[in-house]
Amino acid sequence: MQVNTLILGAGAAGMMAAAHAGPSTLVVDHARAPGEKIRISGGGRCNFTNLYAEPANFICANPHFMKSALSRYTQWDFIDLVNAHGIAWHEKTLGQLFCDDTAKQIITMLRAEMERAGAQLWLQTTVGEITHDGAFRVSLMREGRETRISARNLVLATGGKSIPKMGATGLAYQIAAQFGLPLVTPRPGLVPLTFGETFKPLAGVALHSRAQGQGPAFEEATLFTHRGLSGPAILQASSYWQEGESITLDLSPQTSLFDLLKSARQTAGRRALTTVLSQHLPARVVAYLGEDLPKTNLADLSDARLADIAQRLHHWQLTPTGSEGYRTAEVTLGGIDTDALNSATMEAKALPGLYAIGEAVDVTGWLGGYNFQWAWSSGWAAGTAIAKAAHHLA
Ligand SMILES: Cc1cc2nc3c(=O)[nH]c(=O)nc-3n(C[C@H](O)[C@H](O)[C@H](O)COP(=O)(O)OP(=O)(O)OC[C@H]3O[C@@H](n4cnc5c(N)ncnc54)[C@H](O)[C@@H]3O)c2cc1C
Repeated sequence: MQVNTLILGAGAAGMMAAAHAGPSTLVVDHARAPGEKIRISGGGRCNFTNLYAEPANFICANPHFMKSALSRYTQWDFIDLVNAHGIAWHEKTLGQLFCDDTAKQIITMLRAEMERAGAQLWLQTTVGEITHDGAFRVSLMREGRETRISARNLVLATGGKSIPKMGATGLAYQIAAQFGLPLVTPRPGLVPLTFGETFKPLAGVALHSRAQGQGPAFEEATLFTHRGLSGPAILQASSYWQEGESITLDLSPQTSLFDLLKSARQTAGRRALTTVLSQHLPARVVAYLGEDLPKTNLADLSDARLADIAQRLHHWQLTPTGSEGYRTAEVTLGGIDTDALNSATMEAKALPGLYAIGEAVDVTGWLGGYNFQWAWSSGWAAGTAIAKAAHHLA
């Protein structure tokens, strides 16, 4: 069977590309349904983009690579599409847009767009051997039968390695390697960090905090778990953290604890330090830290002591033993090296007709709708480039 374009992966990026790649497009996926990650995303409501999405919200070995695609298909373009399909949405926080109803609406919308474009979708299809001799020759297994496809264009849209239980395989990396495209070593991102048994006594406690790995600081909630730390602030910081490094946690990002303790010493000097801190921080956290805090009244503590205590609570240095890994990571950092791709079209520089989009590429967004925006923008860039090339050839 001959097609102009074969897209591997019917996730967010693959479906978006299929909706724009023009005639004779086939999308294949080994899953039973397309867009499974969309379905479970955002707690079932899909945080489909972010009002403030810009290149600075993405991690990539080349910080300029994503600029072209993000500026040509923006969050406003996707919002227009969502609106055109009558999907109601709301901003939850920090520019994060969610469906009012269900994430399934986004999948239905993308399927409708694919159908409108005439793209075919084959599910429960396994990808076998791939060769290239001017066209891509791909062996597919479907319903127990092998079909050999010849395609002018091959789009790698099988995502990263995160959550193998949901069908993540790293197939795009293997195919990229087969065709000589370099990889930036993949690793789990937006992932809870583990600390052995250290925080077991605090499991279930959440607090507003500022967390920082080797990148920007993120001010959001931190959650203590049986295994370590989670919550949006930690997930964000985890994408800038590598094994062996520490992270810094500010337990009171909005209020100076030095000022708070100093003024409490003036008005209520006879109160214990831990009592005053418990009025501002979760009591279980203060009890946990209490072992290292002086057991005296505030009146007995000098300015220097108060400053030292405040400094420790604003700059708590923590060294994770590891992360929960791909089992729970929301994304995969690293992937197909962007140096090998054209940033306007996502086409491999060394092999015309081969494209890579979405999470398979070394572009990873922050938590908050940025990863889907990358899937939409890169999928659109590849799809429209393919359609344009086909038009010229026709
Ligand atoms: C629990 C969770 C919640 C998330 N929530 C959000 C959110 O709210 N907002 C946000 O922006 N991002 C979110 N993300 C991240 C987002 O889902 C991904 O970044 C995005 O789906 C990537 O799109 P993609 O098309 O590149 O890959 P995917 O959506 O992962 O699609 C890849 C497709 O390829 C198929 N595939 C994989 N291997 C093979 C193979 N060997 N053969 C055939 N097919 C294969 C898969 O079945 C899948 O359909 C979330 C991720 C997770 C895990």
